[in-house]
Amino acid sequence: MVARNFFIGGNWKMNGSVAQVKSLVEGLNTINVPTQTEVVVSPPALYIDRVRANLKKDIGVAAQNSYVKASGAYTGEISPEQLKDLGINWVILGHSERREYFAESDKFVGQKTAHALKAGVSVIACIGEKLEEREANITSQVVTRQLKGIADEINDWTNVVVAYEPVWAIGTGKVATPEQAEEVHVTLRAWLASNVSQKVADSVRIIYGGSVNAKNAAELGKHCNAWASHSLTHSLISLLFLIATKPNIDGFLVGGASLKATDFNTIVQARL
Ligand code: PGA
Repeated sequence: MVARNFFIGGNWKMNGSVAQVKSLVEGLNTINVPTQTEVVVSPPALYIDRVRANLKKDIGVAAQNSYVKASGAYTGEISPEQLKDLGINWVILGHSERREYFAESDKFVGQKTAHALKAGVSVIACIGEKLEEREANITSQVVTRQLKGIADEINDWTNVVVAYEPVWAIGTGKVATPEQAEEVHVTLRAWLASNVSQKVADSVRIIYGGSVNAKNAAELGKHCNAWASHSLTHSLISLLFLIATKPNIDGFLVGGASLKATDFNTIVQARL
């Protein structure tokens, strides 16, 4: 099996103020990033420059979106080339909130991914099914269709992290069970093996997002050895446990819990 480094992303979404960002960065600067773990935080675009300037360099910074052109008359957009200019080496693309509220198609997400990679910006590419899609038993079709939207546009997956984020788990407190997450991650790897290559299937990191939080990550630290006792009922605990025992979950994309440095640190340290 190919060893893949753990990846923790913090998606701040449209949250924060100058004062809050300053205090969050100060908190993040106290985090000790474990070896073989990559940590990347994603502030709103307005604050990205100050975050990159003030955040310790062993934590990466991601934009939450980027466009498919280097420059030009595209009011309101940001190019990956501009991100590079500021020392921003990552971008989150295809988040369900952008797909849902800004009508981003699979193809457009693929095109944005291709352009960002071409500009030298690594991509956290988000995919995930809605509740009604899960209930209709079409989760696999939905996530592989979204993955194909990306695969159709790129050849090199070296600088891509895939984030599986079931829409029904985002911001809801309803985390996927380990079985649900593992099943989808296995499906994604199998699709990559058949449609891209075995090498990409083995090497690409697939992380989970959706209601990951520190409280349960901390509990895991205390209880993981007693896993078989059935005393652990919270699904996140079992999800974290899976990371230690299953090969297909390579980290987390964290929303709400990434806004508090102490909570985020607990998650960063959660790998066993
Ligand atoms: P959440 O968000 O952790 O607040 O559920 C995750 C995400 O949208 O990336």
